[in-house]
Amino acid sequence: MNDFDILEKLGEGSYSTVYKVLRKADSQIYAAKKVKFSSMNQKDKQNALNEIRFLASITHPNVVSYKEVFIDDPTSSLCLIMEYASKGDLLQMVNTHKKNGSHFPEPEIWSIIVQSLKGLKALHSRNILHRDIKSANIFVTSANLVQLGDLNVAKVVNGLAYTQTGTPYYASPEVWRDLPYDSKSDIWSLGCVIYELCALEPAFRSKDMKELFSKVVKGRYTDIPSIYSPDLAAIIRSMLQVKPVARPNCEKILESPLLRRNIGVEPEPNESSPLIQTIKLPHSLRALKGKLPGPMYLVNTNNQRVGSARSRKENEVREILRKPSTGYSRENSKASFTPSPLMKITPRVRQDSNIFRKPLIELHPCSNSKLPRPPKVLNNSYV
Ligand code: ATP
Repeated sequence: MNDFDILEKLGEGSYSTVYKVLRKADSQIYAAKKVKFSSMNQKDKQNALNEIRFLASITHPNVVSYKEVFIDDPTSSLCLIMEYASKGDLLQMVNTHKKNGSHFPEPEIWSIIVQSLKGLKALHSRNILHRDIKSANIFVTSANLVQLGDLNVAKVVNGLAYTQTGTPYYASPEVWRDLPYDSKSDIWSLGCVIYELCALEPAFRSKDMKELFSKVVKGRYTDIPSIYSPDLAAIIRSMLQVKPVARPNCEKILESPLLRRNIGVEPEPNESSPLIQTIKLPHSLRALKGKLPGPMYLVNTNNQRVGSARSRKENEVREILRKPSTGYSRENSKASFTPSPLMKITPRVRQDSNIFRKPLIELHPCSNSKLPRPPKVLNNSYV
């Protein structure tokens, strides 16, 4: 971290802290996510490496841009340097509107829809499911670029996924029911985000998990405020259809007349970079050093431009692909799981309603250790 000055702490995740930093070499501001590797279990470590793998593979204006990853020896942390989103995340923007008694202007919401769909399409076209789309994981830069971030639990899936994951407010009916799911589950979650931008409340709210489950699987929510157009209500309705097959995919929505008449869809950036291979978790942090992707800044340490980030990324990817496969595979358990275990987390709900914002990650009837982690202090409180 010697190459950076820490300017402020932006927030804390379950195992990571995100800082606003100044890179001394180019005097630019970045976001640095410091992941406390030493205190994590194997699965969470692999999740952190997944995020790096995906972010370093995808160059897209609507996916948080990766800059560099390294190990900070003094703190035994993995440091991920990313583009800094100066306007914060959508949940922060929702909370600001709530506080001020104001609303998102409708054109801003359409712009967020289009940009989020483009980012999601970039993931889905590589068979990556995000699996935790929520307002807190969508960021806005100073140039008003809307970017998907936090790809911690994202997964490459050729077919259907099984592991129950996501955040309760945004989880699709099929995830709640522990059914196999696909990219349409991300579409549902994005529908929940768009609803939240309009109503400044989650689409599905309740006082406990049981009631939330019941509302989600029925797809029942109250109308968005009447200040918004029927087109906006219709696009949300199409994304919040209970049956996944009835939900359109990213391309369909982006091409729909409903969207086109509300916003001009610009041409897609030509991006076809390959996905870098899974970064296999070695036994020691030291051994991880040689496996991490290289930096992708636009300027080098002498403050000279080093070609496009894209060409650097492509070289990097080629370099990594030359190495033998390190395919790690943590296959999701197909073990069946009835809705009843959802009840098991009710006591925690009573302790702290922020549990609704916490991941549903791999709830399992037989293991308390797989219940959501204890809630941390969050800057939101809906229930
Ligand atoms: P968890 O990872 O456990 O779900 P989280 O999403 O709150 O929790 P992080 O993704 O680590 O945790 O983010 C922590 C804080 O840092 C959040 O407030 C988030 O808005 C902010 N943040 C994360 N990435 C960036 C970024 N690239 N630019 C600006 N702020 C960011």
